[in-house]
Formats: sequence, C-alpha cells, structure tokens
Amino acid sequence: MDLSIERQVLVTGGAGFLGSHLCERLIEQGKDVVCVDNFFTGTRRNVQHLLDHPRFELIRHDVTFPLYIEVDAIYNLACPASPVHYQHDPVQTTKTSVHGAINVLGLAKRTRAKIFQASTSEVYGDPSVHPQPEEYWGNVNPIGPRSCYDEGKRCAETLFFDYHRQHGLDIKVARIFNTYGPRMHPQDGRVVSNFIVQALRGEDITIFGDGQQTRSFCYVDDLIEGFLRLMDTSDDVTGPINIGNPNEFTIRELAETVIELVGSKSELVNMPLPADDPKQRQPDINKAKEILDWSPKVQLREGLTKTIAYFDELLAQAG
Ligand code: NAD
Ligand code: UDP
Ligand code: UDP
Repeated sequence: MDLSIERQVLVTGGAGFLGSHLCERLIEQGKDVVCVDNFFTGTRRNVQHLLDHPRFELIRHDVTFPLYIEVDAIYNLACPASPVHYQHDPVQTTKTSVHGAINVLGLAKRTRAKIFQASTSEVYGDPSVHPQPEEYWGNVNPIGPRSCYDEGKRCAETLFFDYHRQHGLDIKVARIFNTYGPRMHPQDGRVVSNFIVQALRGEDITIFGDGQQTRSFCYVDDLIEGFLRLMDTSDDVTGPINIGNPNEFTIRELAETVIELVGSKSELVNMPLPADDPKQRQPDINKAKEILDWSPKVQLREGLTKTIAYFDELLAQAG
C-alpha cells in the first residue's frame, strides 16, 4: 500500500527509458502524473499506453526553460544517458543538467515539492576505488568528451545540496548505475541494447577495446523500486545513495551471454575504445540496503531474457 501524501507528481524525461517505467509505477500507485519531455531521446511510444489515462498528462517541454505548474513531488530524469547521444550536442547536455536542475529546483522551492535527482555512477568517473561507495569523490576528467555529462551531473548534485542547505528543500539524490530493460531505444547506443539488437539481427557484436572493462547491470524494475523507496524516506534522508546491481561482468562476458541467450550466430569484433571509458564499475549498495531495505532481485540472465523478448517483438514489428 502507498502511504505517501504526494499526489501530483512531475516526471521530467518521463518519455525516456527509465521515465516511462517510473510514470507507469506512479500511475499504478494512484498518483496524478505530469510527464515532461522534449523527445530528444524519448518517444511518445514509450508512454502510449498511458496517454488515455485520466491521471496522466504529457507535456512537450525542454527543462532548460522555466516551467510553472503546481506539483507536490518532482522526479528529475531529463537528460540523455547514452554516451552517443549526450556527446551529440554536448553544450545542450550541460545546459540540460545544470539549467534543468536550476529550473526544477526553483519549481520545488516555490511549490515546496519534494525533489528527486537522477544522478549517475559517472560522478565517480574512471574510479580508482572499487567498488564505489557514496563517500568516494571520483576521478573525473573535466575537459574530455564525457565531461558534459559527468560534470553536468556533478554540478546538478551541487545545486541540489545547495538548495537543500540554503532553502531547506527536501532532496533525494540517487546515483544510478548501468540499467537496462524494455523500452531502451534500439538505436540508444548503450551496450546492452546494442548487443541484443546486433545478436537478433545476426550482425557482428561490437566490443569496444578488449572487452575486459567491467560494468554491473541492474534490471529496470529493480531500479524503479529503489527510486520509489528513496522518495518515501523521511526528509533527513537526502542521499546521495547508490542504486544498482553489484553483480559485475566484463563487456566480453556480457556479449557471450547475449549471444547464448539469443541463440545467435553473431561474431565478436573489436572496435576502438572511446576516450575516458571507465575501466571498472560496481556499486557499493550497503546504504541502499540499510536505509531503503532495498536490493536488486532480478539477475542478469533473467533480465536479459525479458529485454531480448522486448527487442525481438519490436524488430519483428519494424519488419
Ligand atoms: P533516456 O535517454 O531514455 O531518457 C532521458 C529522457 O530525457 C528522454 O526522454 C529525453 O527525451 C529527455 N530529455 C533529454 N533532454 C531533455 C530536456 N532538455 N528537456 C526535457 N527532456 C529531456 O535515458 P534513461 O536511461 O531513461 O535515463 C534517465 C535518467 O537517468 C537520465 O537523467 C540519466 O542521466 C539517468 N541515468 C540513467 C542510467 C541508466 O543506466 N539508464 C544510469 C545513470 C543515470
Ligand atoms: N522556476 C521555474 N518554475 C517555478 C519557479 C522557478 O521554472 O515555479 C525557475 C526560474 O526560471 C528561476 C529558477 O527556477 O530562474 C530558479 O528559481 P529560484 O527561485 O531559485 O531563483 P530566482 O527566481 O530567484 O532566480
Ligand atoms: N560498449 C561496447 N560496445 C558497444 C557499446 C558500448 O563495448 O556497442 C562498451 C563501452 O565502451 C563501455 C561499456 O560497454 O565500456 C558500457 O557502455 P555504455 O555506453 O552502455 O555505458 P557507460 O560507458 O556510460 O557505462
């Protein structure tokens, strides 16, 4: 049962991969949901099934511009998350993170809404501490091709904590680790969707570098449960709090698992490693366990199987 008092909830980036799952869960909880998106990487199709719902509203809007509406809670997810997309227009990426944060924080300040920030494991950069606890300050290049995203998200965290200290805002900052699942865009460019689409089409699987770099992959349903639990904590809980699945795999292991689960004849090919690509990543989730009583339930093979089924159907529809 949902006991939280917030009714009117804004989700920025709500037509994206994570946002669409979040909107769905909030509607199920009986909330009124305002979904705001500029459709840069998200699509109407992701929220198609919600469009006729009487408690759901979709607004095309860019969060770098002010937004005046009345809400009790805000989830700020607006920002392209795939390196390919956030590097496409890096200036807009920084604007989205920084101006976007200022605008939603201004909105939260005026309405006294509780506000959640979708931060990222990228604030740890190419980490020299492993696994990464929240106390680690990170190893981030401030001037590289990933910086628009990493530093944008770091500055957004700064803004959240300053609005908390200076204006008493009730903030919830989640550091999200690599998450995958249905409704990722087939051209999203992130590793799980790339490998699944390539395997289903029988195309070569593109491994960047030698494939020995690691990531820890969380299934979307687990992640959204973590978001909701964090939002329901008392106002002394601000985060930052890591949310992700600590099971760590090399990119080569991921490729081999996808090929096996799809039953594909795809071959592995090596491509150049992008600049500043983190070598290893694994969340320390002790805080999430203690404070939220949360830990991920869906393991990689199960989550991949569900995601493969989604892409299989999507590609079949596309012909
Ligand atoms: P996504 O690209 O599918 O979703 C982002 C959404 O934000 C899209 O719908 C996009 O159109 C929208 N958007 C982008 N710029 C906007 C703007 N200026 N104004 C309004 N809307 C805008 O990515 P996702 O995986 O759903 O990520 C959602 C959030 O979670 C992002 O903030 C991302 O940084 C964060 N995150 C995701 C992951 C992950 O593994 N999925 C990991 C760490 C952090
Ligand atoms: N803002 C908004 N919606 C609101 C209130 C504020 O979009 O309901 C934006 C507005 O553009 C403002 C920013 O949030 O510039 C920051 O607001 P804040 O009150 O912190 O700053 P100020 O208005 O004093 O510059
Ligand atoms: N990667 C890869 N092939 C691809 C896409 C990504 O080998 O087709 C690698 C990428 O270099 C990185 C890892 O997979 O080491 C995760 O990449 P992704 O873009 O999904 O996320 P991030 O680097 O932001 O964690």
